[in-house]
Amino acid sequence: MRRVVWFAGKKYYRIVPFIVIGYMLIIFAAALAGMTEAVSLSVAGKNPVVIDPGHGGYDPGAITSKGVYEKDINLAISKKVKTKLAESGIKAILTREDDRDYANGAGSKKTKKQTDLDYRIGLVEGLNPEILISIHVNSGGGNNSGAEAFYQEGSEEGKALAECVQAELRKIPGMTKRVAKSGEFYLTRNTKITAIILELGYLSNPVERKKLLQNFYQDQLADAITAGIKNYLAGGK
Ligand SMILES: [Zn+2]
Repeated sequence: MRRVVWFAGKKYYRIVPFIVIGYMLIIFAAALAGMTEAVSLSVAGKNPVVIDPGHGGYDPGAITSKGVYEKDINLAISKKVKTKLAESGIKAILTREDDRDYANGAGSKKTKKQTDLDYRIGLVEGLNPEILISIHVNSGGGNNSGAEAFYQEGSEEGKALAECVQAELRKIPGMTKRVAKSGEFYLTRNTKITAIILELGYLSNPVERKKLLQNFYQDQLADAITAGIKNYLAGGK
């Protein structure tokens, strides 16, 4: 017996439910494709990620032993993050690709520092990035160790980004388990871009200094930062 179905006041045979299901599947597939595209767009980011290797040029940053400069470690790790983000289809731009500053010559130490940071802020804002990550290593505080993410006090997005990166940094074997903290920094305070400062370890701690100079450990740090950025861009916490 042929089954008859009623649709819109007319009678159809049983092929109709299959047509309806077919249409529903097409609509579902299209919606799924749209969702997938939206997710990959949000991960890839329409705008770039900017990585700021802290210090450079006249300003070496922290120095705790001869020939070991914070600025060099910051640049090495920043370049690794750029490469790893590119491997995930995320465009990253560095505020400096080599050993340079933007202090533009003369002036007091304070004026030079501010000129340099103001230039970096202008550079970053001109790129209209999704986020800004400024990379540093720390010194001082006895035998302190561990990587730490800082966000500007009052910035909810900064907090979310810092927590995403901190969560990944904590996974590195042997890492001191620090938590993301708010702070006051010239760079994060003077930009509307969601920005965080990473202090990736202590040069003043001889054990950590040795690790921070190792290619393997720099890769571990860069992997963690990359994973944290990806989680943040994907809307994760
Ligand atoms: Zn620094």
